[in-house]
Amino acid sequence: MDYGAFSRQAASMKFLVPYLVPRGSVQFALHYLLWMIFIISLYLLQKFFFDGGLEYGYVQPLRTVFVIASPCLIIGLTLVAKLEAQKDEISRLSRTDVLTGLLNRGAMDAVLANELPNLPGCLLLIDIDHFKSVNDDFGHAAGDECLRAAARFLRRVLPEDAELARWGGEEFVVLVRHQQVSEVAPFANRLAKGVSLPITGRNRPIRITFSIGVANLSEVGPVDALLKLADTRLYLAKSWGRAQWVGPEAEPLEP
Ligand code: GH3
Ligand code: MG
Ligand code: MG
Repeated sequence: MDYGAFSRQAASMKFLVPYLVPRGSVQFALHYLLWMIFIISLYLLQKFFFDGGLEYGYVQPLRTVFVIASPCLIIGLTLVAKLEAQKDEISRLSRTDVLTGLLNRGAMDAVLANELPNLPGCLLLIDIDHFKSVNDDFGHAAGDECLRAAARFLRRVLPEDAELARWGGEEFVVLVRHQQVSEVAPFANRLAKGVSLPITGRNRPIRITFSIGVANLSEVGPVDALLKLADTRLYLAKSWGRAQWVGPEAEPLEP
């Protein structure tokens, strides 16, 4: 099977989609109008070409075309618009972490693969400290609520254009664009110190802190190596007492 032809066809459809799919009622009306002009033009062309003209004037045949084409167009355009909206929603869901609403790991993998080669900046690997004890002490539902609140806290503290994903469990990955490790110290400190999170049904908030490994994107090339470097530094932050961040100045660990 020629998969090359297949993907070429898919690529050309991708190029056409923005022009074929109406988004919103104004575009819907515009598409309807353009398709109607197109259909009427085809009808008139074939009439003049094969029948030598319109024997009984314009009104009767144009009304017939209009009455037949209108419902087909409206149904067709509505279906196309609905399918495209569903496709957008499926694509959004496939990139989203269900619990926190952040990017999921797959989506972050794609962001890193696309942006890393030509981007100055740094990567943060963030892990909630002693999170197991939150589950043990307050229950799994409180743990989930805590994760959602922690995600909101991270989003609030991080730069607006930073990409934030739940990497798995109680770990998060952040891509900070255009700022090196030396420049992220203010918010890395704030993150590491943590936050008190109010949890439903408890009169005292839960205090959580974060351990963070930070690596400059320029330190190593491949994504895997960069993540490993950040992970090594995260491990250092844990072993040095947690609630802190560790960057390139840290001594490397013995293997
Ligand atoms: P450390 O400071 O060394 O990171 O300790 P920790 O307890 O945070 O780490 P550990 O890996 O021992 O435990 C992670 C816990 O996170 C265990 C698991 O039950 C919990 N966890 C992972 N994903 C979820 C989740 O989606 N919801 C809840 N409630 N808990 C989760
Ligand atoms: Mg962990
Ligand atoms: Mg942890």
